[in-house]
Amino acid sequence: MRGQCRVDWPLAPRPGQKEVSERLSELLSSGFRVLFTAPTGWGKTLAALVALYSSRLLPTVWMVRSLTLGERVGEDAALLKLISVTLAGREKTCPLAEELGEGVHDYCRYFRYECPYNKPPLEVPLMSYEELMRLGAREGFCPYYAQDLVAERAEVIVQSYYRRVPRVARSFVVDEAHNLLMPREASYRISEMVKAVDEARRLGASERLVGALSAIIKYALIRDGPLDPKLFLDEGLEGELREIYLEALRARRGALRPLIKLVRAEAVYVEGERILTYEPRRILPFRPTLFISATLPEGADKLLQVDAEVRVPWSKRLKAHVVEHLTTKYGEFDSNMALGYKKLLLELAKDHERVVAFAASSRVARELTGVVDYYETRPPREWRGIALFRARGRFSEGVDLPADVAVMLGCPYLPPEVSSRLARAYKALGVQEPVKMALDVPMLITTLQCIGRAARSPGEKPLVVLADERYRKYVRELEPYLELS
Ligand code: SF4
Repeated sequence: MRGQCRVDWPLAPRPGQKEVSERLSELLSSGFRVLFTAPTGWGKTLAALVALYSSRLLPTVWMVRSLTLGERVGEDAALLKLISVTLAGREKTCPLAEELGEGVHDYCRYFRYECPYNKPPLEVPLMSYEELMRLGAREGFCPYYAQDLVAERAEVIVQSYYRRVPRVARSFVVDEAHNLLMPREASYRISEMVKAVDEARRLGASERLVGALSAIIKYALIRDGPLDPKLFLDEGLEGELREIYLEALRARRGALRPLIKLVRAEAVYVEGERILTYEPRRILPFRPTLFISATLPEGADKLLQVDAEVRVPWSKRLKAHVVEHLTTKYGEFDSNMALGYKKLLLELAKDHERVVAFAASSRVARELTGVVDYYETRPPREWRGIALFRARGRFSEGVDLPADVAVMLGCPYLPPEVSSRLARAYKALGVQEPVKMALDVPMLITTLQCIGRAARSPGEKPLVVLADERYRKYVRELEPYLELS
């Protein structure tokens, strides 16, 4: 093949790994956007690195959800003797991030020319971002932008999905690409919003603005569910809030940021003492790009706008049952239905030692905490019983929760008002099948991620119980991963 170079595998490739790598190399060399799915532990990272290396598509920008997940990429790159570097975002590297918090991005966007560190060094050696931060602190330069110079020396550049892409890149990899099909969610405590309103008052906000912001908070305190800040703030008040925010940023105060996020969000939802904000995800337009995931429901190829797909099927699918007499559907999840779910959990716990359960929402979780042994906490090493987690909570991704049964207590859809707002936003962005992108795909990805907590290594084969009649609609999407009965 033209433009290819020979790469020796550092370890004997597993059956099929070399062939898959060659196919990826062929597709990426043609400038394609390629979707690559294979089971957890199959060796996707090494196969992808060999493909990029052999097709001379390095340096590559390898995008990850969290930088700790990027360590594995660095280890595999080292096996091929490739130079890798991890680039961190502003919140980790900017010397002003402590004062400004999340507001550091807007500060840098609007007031970078006033920043005392905005004098990049001419040259920096290859070093980690932590070392660069120490050097920047000594020499007074901005470590965030200096990382671009480090990137010029690397062949594999690991960074988060959100960091700006270095110019040197010849190809892109999106690791755990299912995350791109989930909306961006941020969560704020109501107490943070109260502090932000106090700050706005101190900074001279008009009485009308403070009154409107206080009304939003009062509403959130008494009512769970959707919240539309635009019903409280007219255009004039929004403009005033924005001006005060920028003035505060200029004075290096970032406390108003939660209020700005609230106003800018596509959808807002109140859940207990937290306010959740949602924004549609933008699909990155770069080429050639390799999207990697262990679990992507059928149809994801269209949403990610890929040209070709390489799927390594799951050789051993987990056995799964759909429980058809239960649902957490709005209007049908009452005390009787909750009783049905409790009975199911207790029955499962009779026959199995460790039951990991994921509640579709906080409302469902609240009804069921009485029958479980652990709730939203990691069980001890030798645990027995029922451990309950929220499906979109902090334990639903990246955590190992080995169990004998993994049970979904309802379909974890986003709240209906959030999905419909996101669907409108996706439609405006020109996404094909916006309803699917806003409604079905996030639910299916959340389900597969939750189940994956109990089956992190190939030897773990928990029974899967999908306790909601609505799962019947998704047999085609789930069958590549589950043997449904
Ligand atoms: S230029 Fe660098 S130091 Fe200054 S605000 Fe931006 S990221 Fe922070």
